[in-house]
Amino acid sequence: MNCLEERILKDGVVKEGNVLKVDSFLNHQMDVELMNEIGKEFYRRFQHKPINKILTIEASGIAIAYAVAQQFHVPLLFAKKSKSINIAGDTYVAEVESFTHKNRNTVVVSKQFLNENDRVLIIDDFLANGAAINGLISIVEEAGAVLVGAGVCIEKGWQPGGDHLRGKGVKLVSLAVCDRIENGKIICRD
Ligand code: 5GP
Repeated sequence: MNCLEERILKDGVVKEGNVLKVDSFLNHQMDVELMNEIGKEFYRRFQHKPINKILTIEASGIAIAYAVAQQFHVPLLFAKKSKSINIAGDTYVAEVESFTHKNRNTVVVSKQFLNENDRVLIIDDFLANGAAINGLISIVEEAGAVLVGAGVCIEKGWQPGGDHLRGKGVKLVSLAVCDRIENGKIICRD
């Protein structure tokens, strides 16, 4: 998706630890026109698959998943970061290592909103080591739902998450793949 790539090259900032900051248009301030284009592009790429739910993880996935869900006319469901223990057993739970914050989060989805009748498209902003998406996949599997595919705006190609998911047979769509950072500059794949 050229407009996303161009935006990353124009406004993306490389931070310590190979963290790519896209706060001016995706992760803090949001360009809603770009968000809508992203929603349309994911729709174009997955429209031939039966999808009845978009699943993401709070917080930065939500706005992107909203744009996608709007195109598919299906609900958006987001995994919540939770501090409480699930005594009632009414939630699916996954442990997710945060790449940017270097901590572990327990994320939960209510069993009320995900079950074996669901055909799920997972959406997130970034794919790095794959912890976030793998956590969401484990929740989809626990629910007995069908994973139709996963879509990310930016895949960091030098980290193993993307290849690992493809190796597992997940239909993965990355709208922009950034291959490396050279002298502080981002190099994206053609
Ligand atoms: P993963 O779980 O694949 O290792 O990392 C993906 C998650 O970490 C995403 O949900 C995203 O919020 C965050 N993340 C990973 N790498 C970056 C990055 O370079 N920049 C930003 N802004 N977020 C990242």
